[in-house]
Amino acid sequence: MAISPTESADRVLVWFRRDLRVADHPALARALREARSVWCVFVLDPAILAGLPRDDRRVAFIHASLADLDAQIAVLSGGRARLIVRHAAAAEAIPDLAAELGVQAVHAHHDDDPAALARDARVRDRLAADGRALRTFKDHVIFERAEILTGAGTPYGVFTPYKNAWLKALHARPGLLADCGSDADGAALAAPPPGPWQDGAAVPAAEEFGFSAAPAGPPDDPGLRPGTRGGEALLHEFLDRIDDYDAVRDFPASPGPSHLGIHLRFGTLSLRRLVALALARIEGGSRGAQTWLSELIWRDFYHQVLFHHPHVVGHAYRADCDAIGWERGERADADFAAWCAGRTGYPLVDAGMRQLNATGYMHNRLRMVTASFLTKDLGVSWQRGEAYFALHLNDFELASNNGGWQWAASTGCDAQPWFRIFNPVTQSERFDPDGAFIRRWVPELARLQGKAIHAPWKARPAELAAARVALDIDYPLPIVDHDLAREKTLARFGSKGSGRPVV
Ligand SMILES: Cc1cc2nc3c(=O)[nH]c(=O)nc-3n(C[C@H](O)[C@H](O)[C@H](O)COP(=O)(O)OP(=O)(O)OC[C@H]3O[C@@H](n4cnc5c(N)ncnc54)[C@H](O)[C@@H]3O)c2cc1C
Repeated sequence: MAISPTESADRVLVWFRRDLRVADHPALARALREARSVWCVFVLDPAILAGLPRDDRRVAFIHASLADLDAQIAVLSGGRARLIVRHAAAAEAIPDLAAELGVQAVHAHHDDDPAALARDARVRDRLAADGRALRTFKDHVIFERAEILTGAGTPYGVFTPYKNAWLKALHARPGLLADCGSDADGAALAAPPPGPWQDGAAVPAAEEFGFSAAPAGPPDDPGLRPGTRGGEALLHEFLDRIDDYDAVRDFPASPGPSHLGIHLRFGTLSLRRLVALALARIEGGSRGAQTWLSELIWRDFYHQVLFHHPHVVGHAYRADCDAIGWERGERADADFAAWCAGRTGYPLVDAGMRQLNATGYMHNRLRMVTASFLTKDLGVSWQRGEAYFALHLNDFELASNNGGWQWAASTGCDAQPWFRIFNPVTQSERFDPDGAFIRRWVPELARLQGKAIHAPWKARPAELAAARVALDIDYPLPIVDHDLAREKTLARFGSKGSGRPVV
């Protein structure tokens, strides 16, 4: 019989997944508090790695973050313990290792992505068959699952009341953000069994599990800064400018956002700590921190949407929107390819896509602009855009990516109204007024002056000649006319002014 959730386990295996740090780590804290022997493992699961390019930036980030985690475990244990790394299906690797080490319990943090829930159910069953327990804890969000519900006991479908309930719940439980002290005493951390990797290394070289180094970004791109150390450096820089976040966050040429998304995705920093830091700044009157906290609450919001409505993976949140007749066929494929490559002829859209392709990051304003352009100017389904972002975004997170795409496509939970269609030129004039971001990412237009940078096809021939831009040769003509596309989208979603989209 497996031990109960409250019973103490003497030997525990801590399974790291999207929580690659030792500080403020609830699953590790509980193990170190109660067990005499504790081991730490990370599984490189071929099922997850299979669909990724061999030089995937996220894999390189994880790889370097594992080395950082291994070093943190070594320091915490006084040099005795190391991270155990396995390259195998988690559903086998975890029960096998648990048996080899003779642990009574495996500790991990909740992961509510549908595929992760299914994997954890398999691991739990196999462990239970051997009399061992899988014990999971909340870490990745502040409030999860059914912790924030409406008065009627249903999940929230609108962000603002959810946010108000979230803030109320946090004020009622201030202790929720307290550091759980997992890095205070590592006496129970035990030496690992011999690993399978060359030279006896704890963390294998990327080549040993089939990957190579990530491609270098452009010279002015700082690249990803992995591990807790990298996250701390970014956080330190961001805290110097957090007070301005509300004023500059929408302007992609400004250093507004934190770039911490990937650190939240892989848990190299503790979300609770970030929320506590934001709250402290809010107390000091920071409007920037207040806006930033709202963004972190959006993240929790989309996680609970995914948990309560797992059909959003592949389907519209609003069932009636599954019937929308998105464009298909050769023309749609060509439009999609042009969008992916940043060659739509709309400079701000192209700048955003090129930033994504070259660095794996895309500014939030441009995620909204490019997603709106794909779905509402090109009429291509949000699922195709979602899949492209999933493959390329460093901070790809199923819940937020799905939520963001369904927001932009007006098919989602508390989404953009369907008749609100971003004008890509107006967005450009508003959020990149002097064209600095466009000039950085679409260098063939860099010499264009004034408003021409936002809509080169409207420039006078003399302006184009002076800027040495030959349209349709150096830079594409627009692949779609926005005004016509707008009419088509309004028709696609339903008769103008009616509240509900129909096909
Ligand atoms: C079409 C589309 C796709 C998106 N895909 C993702 C994704 O795969 N992963 C992802 O983390 N975010 C996604 N977002 C949300 C947002 O664009 C990114 O979180 C943000 O740009 C990341 O940059 P940052 O870390 O510098 O963010 P900051 O502006 O510094 O925000 C801090 C953190 O808050 C969270 N956050 C911010 N905005 C949102 C939001 N709208 N929804 C949910 N969480 C938010 C993120 O964790 C982010 O790292 C998407 C948005 C859209 C419109």
